[in-house]
Amino acid sequence: MTAARGESGLPHGPDADPRAWPSRPRGLKVVHDRVGVDLPAAERAVADLLVALGKDASSEHLADTPRRVARSYAELLTPREFNLTTFPNDEGYDELVLARNIPVQSLCQHHLLPFRGVAHVGYLPGERILGLSKLARVVELFARDLQVQERLTKQVADWLREHLAPKGVGVVIEAEHMCMSLRGVQATGSRTVTSALQGLLREDPRSRQEFFALAGLGGI
Ligand SMILES: [Zn+2]
Repeated sequence: MTAARGESGLPHGPDADPRAWPSRPRGLKVVHDRVGVDLPAAERAVADLLVALGKDASSEHLADTPRRVARSYAELLTPREFNLTTFPNDEGYDELVLARNIPVQSLCQHHLLPFRGVAHVGYLPGERILGLSKLARVVELFARDLQVQERLTKQVADWLREHLAPKGVGVVIEAEHMCMSLRGVQATGSRTVTSALQGLLREDPRSRQEFFALAGLGGI
């Protein structure tokens, strides 16, 4: 699904063991390895869809629509690269680190309609900590894809566990799905809440409670 390629900020060779530089930040360029969007093919498909929907794809108003739609989907399905910089937890900070209300926008894989809301992402630090803004980039890494909310939530938690080795990680996503608001049951305003807890945040009731309380979800 994703790949972390290359490292920066580290010497190469036999002395490159990061443990030899405990006070250095460590960088990892994060890129996705999904198949890219074939824009010309997407444009043709959108033009065909317009015709199938009974629309005159050659009308002046729709002439540029296939190009716009194809580019919109490409943007929504392509996460931006970022550098994951982690720092040694020199102070031995062992309390919860939580970023609340990270914006989430993604595309439901069942209807190709957006769902959007917020994510609360927290972790109990192990040996390394990371810049808080990076939590938002990790969310985007998986949100810019065809998704279901449950999988998105778990992927963010799994990724943080693998790359940060925290003592615990928790992810809650609250989102409104356009496929529920605009069609079907038309449950406007209804939000779906999903959570993924791992490590101490799963096993220790007090840590779990603290996470949900700080995330503003004391009722769960
Ligand atoms: Zn849907």
